[in-house]
Amino acid sequence: MRFPLWIIPSLLAAQTYDVVLQRGRVLDPESGLDGVRSVGINGKTIAAISTGPIRGKIEIDAAGLVVAPGFIDLHSHGQTPENYRYKAMDGVTTALELEVGVSPVSEWYTAREGKALVNFGASAGHIPARMAVMKDTGDFLPRDAAMNRRATPEEQKAIGAAVQKGLDEGALGMGLGLAYTPTATHEEILDLFYLAAKWKRPVFVHMRDGGSAMPGVVESLQEVIADAAVSGASLHIVHINSMAQKKTPEALRMIDGARARGLDITTEAYPYIAGASRLESALFNPGWQEKLGGSYSDLLWVATGERLTAESFERYRKQGGSGRVVIFGNTEEMVRVAISNPLVIIASDGGLANGKGHPRSAGTYARVLGKYVREEKALTLIDAIRKSSLMPAERLESMSPTMRRKGRLKAGADADIAVFDPDHVIDKATFENPAQYSEGFRYVMVEGTFVVRDGRLQEGVAPGQAIRAQ
Ligand SMILES: [Zn+2]
Repeated sequence: MRFPLWIIPSLLAAQTYDVVLQRGRVLDPESGLDGVRSVGINGKTIAAISTGPIRGKIEIDAAGLVVAPGFIDLHSHGQTPENYRYKAMDGVTTALELEVGVSPVSEWYTAREGKALVNFGASAGHIPARMAVMKDTGDFLPRDAAMNRRATPEEQKAIGAAVQKGLDEGALGMGLGLAYTPTATHEEILDLFYLAAKWKRPVFVHMRDGGSAMPGVVESLQEVIADAAVSGASLHIVHINSMAQKKTPEALRMIDGARARGLDITTEAYPYIAGASRLESALFNPGWQEKLGGSYSDLLWVATGERLTAESFERYRKQGGSGRVVIFGNTEEMVRVAISNPLVIIASDGGLANGKGHPRSAGTYARVLGKYVREEKALTLIDAIRKSSLMPAERLESMSPTMRRKGRLKAGADADIAVFDPDHVIDKATFENPAQYSEGFRYVMVEGTFVVRDGRLQEGVAPGQAIRAQ
């Protein structure tokens, strides 16, 4: 049924929504809308966006606040209740583990169903499949067999089968971390690209090498771009900031060029000059200084807060386990180049364990909005929101129709919403104290349920849905 235009405002006014966000500054990166509107929510869905006042059973005064689509983090290693709390307080409504991925996939989803604060999902991980098949003793990243030796033909077959099973179970693509599996041959990797192409799922890849070393970021990009071109697989290159460092402009030029030639390639960055990883991983095999662009004193041992020396480096590397290390290897200038480039999606690469880790786990999105948009004007507010919501949704929507209803603020979209104070939003997590909630997110809704209200985390709710490929 169609109503004449004049009658619509009174129809809207006559209805009572479950929740109304009154007169906020609504920003929708898909339509470009940037104006004062009231948002009516029924159940799990945005039902109306109105220029006039509308009524709700719950009415929230959003005057002076920005109302944006909830953020979608493509690179969230932290997939525990602890991590989901920091995500929600940073405006994230969907947190996905796509780089390392998981294996087996089905069990991983089942463990979170009905219990998660935010939406969740994962790729089928080559790393965990390779570790299981090759009997590596690492707990998250390879530390011996899967990084030190080649897979036999039988093992390769078993790894491929495990990844394929994950795709069959609805994994959101395939995760590859070539820097962590340096003994995986170019052929093993190309075979996996063929598999991803067959299933029409993107490959999310941490490239083989980075920086200006030989091989460095140029050769590493050439490998995965070539694999995408010959296989037809879509490709997402994770954390271009920490891979390319001072070669960031050249790396972005290569990705831009591949896209101009018709390849489906995207990339992401996090807004920090330091990265983080496991000291026992292949990232710190001999030659790491050149590849990562740093020396011992650029490494911060998370457990104690100390900077490393040659002696403590060897000691902690042998100790391994869940030993996390922060690597100071980039410059503010290159971080700005990465996050302001129109190609680049914002993604955290974060994960906290008992409050320890990298501040990106808790502060990525508030830091982009507070430091890089408001203070440094490195990018506009609508661009930052686009990079944090619409662009990651678009990366996934060809295989996951659910994502077509996320990353947008319009009638019919899922009610995943972040409401923040643009004058005060800021990250509080630091390298010394990473477990600090961001400030400024006043309301965050996941599927129509408040997970943050009046700036406070809501207890006892679990509205997060599983995001799968279909
Ligand atoms: Zn990585």
